[in-house]
Amino acid sequence: MRNNRCPKCSSEHIMADVEVRDWGPNGSHPLRVHITEPEPDKHGFIWKQGSSAGAVRAWICAACGYTELYTDNLGELYDSYRKGHPGPPYGP
Ligand SMILES: [Zn+2]
Repeated sequence: MRNNRCPKCSSEHIMADVEVRDWGPNGSHPLRVHITEPEPDKHGFIWKQGSSAGAVRAWICAACGYTELYTDNLGELYDSYRKGHPGPPYGP
């Protein structure tokens, strides 16, 4: 879809990089994913919970409504994710 063609209906009328909003107690706000890191085995008395977030953006086909969502801030998100899910290092 980010190549400006709908994979469902082949239309080239794509609304790109559209903000996705949600509503909370303080009104509307951009939708984000959030990853909370696990508590480390050892830490001091004063310790801050690690986390990171990424904004979700939409690509929408104007002909059929098919929608794809993409998240930004991938480097920080994956670093936080790996702290709870060990795996291969980030990078090409
Ligand atoms: Zn379409």
